[in-house]
Amino acid sequence: MKQYLQDAILYKYKLCFRGQEAMKELFHHGIECGDGWYQLIDDACLQIEAYLEQMFDARPDVKTPRITRIWQENDRLKIRITPRNAYLDLLAKQYSEQSKFVCEGCGSYFKNEGIHLGRCMTNKYM
Ligand SMILES: [Zn+2]
Repeated sequence: MKQYLQDAILYKYKLCFRGQEAMKELFHHGIECGDGWYQLIDDACLQIEAYLEQMFDARPDVKTPRITRIWQENDRLKIRITPRNAYLDLLAKQYSEQSKFVCEGCGSYFKNEGIHLGRCMTNKYM
């Protein structure tokens, strides 16, 4: 993903990506997928951030999870959140499922057809 898009995400979601120095270490490969999934990742982070805020407010002593990796695997969006919990696993899974309907290259939505290996079959990103 382009640097300015990654920076926008990392800047926006302070709890998800807190500890910028540590994050540089964790995110030295950056967000490892195409620009087309920007909106999907933004939506996912918004939900995760809201949940982390609640968690953090309720139990600031607990090690609040954060996002440690975002990547593409087998044409699906993957979001790793550490430490894991059932709700965050479910969220990550939902977005992974959604990603199969979104072109990783350009962000176009598809129902079931027209997408090939995570990218639409008709454009320059093939
Ligand atoms: Zn496309």
